[in-house]
Amino acid sequence: MAWNVVIAGGGFGGFYAARTLEKVLPRESTKVTLVNDVNFMLYTPLLPGAAGGALEPRHVVVPLREELKETQLRLGSVVGADSEGRTLRVENLDGSCSDLPYDELIVAVGSVSRTLPIPGLAEHAIGFKALPEAIELRNRLLRSLETAEALDDPVERAQWLTFVFVGAGYAGLEGLAELQDFAADLMQLYPKCRTQGMRWILVEAKERVMTEIQPDLADFGMRELRSRGIEIMTSTTLDAVTASSASLSTGEVVPTRTVVWTAGVKPHPVVADLGLETDRGGRIVTDRTMRVAGQQHVWAIGDAAAVPDPAQDYRASCPPTAQHAIRQGRLVARNVAASIGRGKVKPFTYKTRGVFVDMGQQEAVASTMGIKWRGRPAWFLARTYHIALMPGTKRKLRLLADWNVQLLFGRDASELGRLGHPPRLAEASGGGTPSQQTVGSGSGDEAPAQDPVAVTGDGTSR
Ligand SMILES: Cc1cc2nc3c(=O)[nH]c(=O)nc-3n(C[C@H](O)[C@H](O)[C@H](O)COP(=O)(O)OP(=O)(O)OC[C@H]3O[C@@H](n4cnc5c(N)ncnc54)[C@H](O)[C@@H]3O)c2cc1C
Repeated sequence: MAWNVVIAGGGFGGFYAARTLEKVLPRESTKVTLVNDVNFMLYTPLLPGAAGGALEPRHVVVPLREELKETQLRLGSVVGADSEGRTLRVENLDGSCSDLPYDELIVAVGSVSRTLPIPGLAEHAIGFKALPEAIELRNRLLRSLETAEALDDPVERAQWLTFVFVGAGYAGLEGLAELQDFAADLMQLYPKCRTQGMRWILVEAKERVMTEIQPDLADFGMRELRSRGIEIMTSTTLDAVTASSASLSTGEVVPTRTVVWTAGVKPHPVVADLGLETDRGGRIVTDRTMRVAGQQHVWAIGDAAAVPDPAQDYRASCPPTAQHAIRQGRLVARNVAASIGRGKVKPFTYKTRGVFVDMGQQEAVASTMGIKWRGRPAWFLARTYHIALMPGTKRKLRLLADWNVQLLFGRDASELGRLGHPPRLAEASGGGTPSQQTVGSGSGDEAPAQDPVAVTGDGTSR
């Protein structure tokens, strides 16, 4: 009888689980199916590079079909599960639904941005978690500069030249650093903007930035960013957002057209529909081997799972990082193999060995195996690490090429916001809305016209 292993989610956890299953389970007696809503894995640590225009968006993703030769990829959205009947409910691309039977199920659906009930946040802020958000941020920055350049009133122009990031974890800090670096490079092309200057603000509710790394490294990073003119406001919260302002707990109302929300993640909403036990944060409760509480044949890993953390004596859950998701993916595959008679089920024992925070401009901070790095050596280490980790030789070479081209020639300033969202034929031949085809036309909040069913995860259309 062929064993049927189904993996829900093809990000860091799911991808490495599939890859390991291909190695440890015999092809003739096992079928591995990976269900994912897009046909690639997003390499999130490189998302700031895509937002800042240093990396081609297609070079920060890993096409699943290219890298997983033995796994059956099923493109669709997981919408539910029946653990008694051992089926996973999948909404297919054509809108129909199917129940996929499984012998063993690995849940790895990841997380989404965690928003708070802050007035105007959901309507006016943008997240920084997915590729379309990174591309929209880059386009918005360019549209803002174009809009500002066309304005005569410096007060009005200031709104378009002020950028507020909320949340100073590595996603927020790296995202802000890359975009600010990009904007600083572009200034020579926008004389009015250059004369007026920009304002970049990082708001953090906690007392310090980057709680993921040691305080002295975080201090170094903070000093570096401040030396570039970035304002870092710790112990400060965002109180309200409008289309043209951000109100802070300090009482300041910052005129701005761009608020980026990077203040934490929560498990993907579909987790609540899988009928599995969750903790207070909504993550799936597992034991140390990543088997879901009360389930014999369901496993959970990555951001969606509350896997007990060996670094905290298994008293708290692992942090939501790619490092953990990768190791959990590899081990859960071996545990699944063990539960069907190949080897022994083992507990998760990985403890973080290093952290990199790339701040652009060839500056970074890093901590690896107890050694602290800062400045250019840390930046070099971070890039080497990502090239080593990026799956596939072709992808590694593409990364190298992008980085070297950027070092030699700088970044491109074209705003291709309508790429993948072409005007309808009627529009293109004269009956359309020309304002949507020009840059800097409106508030910067409007999205380009989209076909509601045909937009893929990387913002291109099928
Ligand atoms: C900007 C940024 C930078 C980061 N930098 C770092 C870093 O430097 N180091 C680090 O360790 N971590 C970093 N992280 C965190 C890291 O990305 C996550 O911890 C990691 O991706 C979690 O892996 P995962 O497999 O649980 O989820 P993901 O990698 O998010 O994968 C989940 C997958 O499931 C798919 N999916 C979701 N719902 C469904 C559904 N209903 N049906 C089908 N498919 C679905 C998604 O499309 C995705 O492919 C960063 C995160 C961000 C946002």
